[in-house]
Amino acid sequence: MTGLFATDAAARAFDPLWDEILAVGRDPGTGGYRRFAWADADLTLREWFTGCAAARGMDVEIDRNGNLWAWWLPPGWTGEPENAFVTGSHLDSVPDGGAFDGPLGVVSAFAAVDLVRARGITPRVPVAVTCFVDEEGARFGVACIGSQLSAGALAPERALRLRDGDGVTLAEALRAAGRDPAALGPDPLLAKRIGVFVELHVEQGRALDLVDRPIALASSIWPHGRWEFTFSGEANHAGATRLVDRRDPMLTFATAVHAARGTAEKHRAVATFGKVLVAPNGTNAIPSAVRAWLDARAADEATLTALVAEIETLAGKAAAEGGIGFASEAESRSPIVEFPPEPRAKLSAALAHLGDVPVIPTAAGHDAGVLAERVPTAMLFVRNPTGVSHSPHEFAEAVDCHRGAAALAEVMAAWVR
Ligand SMILES: [Zn+2]
Repeated sequence: MTGLFATDAAARAFDPLWDEILAVGRDPGTGGYRRFAWADADLTLREWFTGCAAARGMDVEIDRNGNLWAWWLPPGWTGEPENAFVTGSHLDSVPDGGAFDGPLGVVSAFAAVDLVRARGITPRVPVAVTCFVDEEGARFGVACIGSQLSAGALAPERALRLRDGDGVTLAEALRAAGRDPAALGPDPLLAKRIGVFVELHVEQGRALDLVDRPIALASSIWPHGRWEFTFSGEANHAGATRLVDRRDPMLTFATAVHAARGTAEKHRAVATFGKVLVAPNGTNAIPSAVRAWLDARAADEATLTALVAEIETLAGKAAAEGGIGFASEAESRSPIVEFPPEPRAKLSAALAHLGDVPVIPTAAGHDAGVLAERVPTAMLFVRNPTGVSHSPHEFAEAVDCHRGAAALAEVMAAWVR
């Protein structure tokens, strides 16, 4: 059994598009990408998106939140698009990010449109290629701003007040890019418009490499959250204070770091302390306080709750033993996203020629996860042989990218015919 779309045809559709944006926002020193929302590289990529749409006779619409939609409407379609097959991803990056996270989904989406058209297929329902703005949250500190605003998950007043590292608010950045900050808000058309949203994404892990398969479907996004841990001790002289007289919160924090690792292993989850603030942060001073942020993710809600509770208990116990004050506060928590079985079954059927396509969870957040609250969504993952992501070393083999574009075209063709 073979599919409609050969890998070499997908290569011819995919490669020129991919090459067009390869240099945009790339730091020549590190090779990493710096494509931050509403800054120069992002604006260049938005122009590129508009050009791709124009070259295909697709009308571009910029929604109230700045997300881009390129429409391919069925012949004779009049009025608002409804019940569309929507596919795309994002074009922004983390600081020193890789080439694939985001752009792979947008390039594959345009390539899929080309492949489906080249087969002479006329869609029954509208097709849209999308780019959701500011997915990574690299500039303003909140991820998936474009999709969250449209889904009504982020209040526009809060979004507009967010500031980047230079103190520029999102409102100011929007104005500088010629956008109207007052336009931000939930998209009332979202649910009516989107029949399904399919996001193709580079895998951010090694699950596919480990089973030697190029493509997977997503089952779920792990629930995850951030907790602020505060350890309070007593500042004192690093030389003159006897060890037995110290109340050193750094020691308790170190215990908490190990507790997080051990507890995560036990629950087959992940837990990371990646951000720490030390007061007074002097080389020759015992710290008075350590504030640290725990990022924890697990396969289900109960495991995540148990994981964090155990880390808190172990940290609290170590604090009590060392005469250290301890407090923990949840800063944010994102519930599990279970991608619905119905669109996934249709995708599976469209990819039957690939054999049993693996269905895997991911521990990374995505626009598809945000939109899953409101509309049917599904995700396709493309193998990442090292699993490295959010790094210049993020990678997918060219042939796997072509297989991904072909798979997306199969899914699109099956859905819209
Ligand atoms: Zn991404």
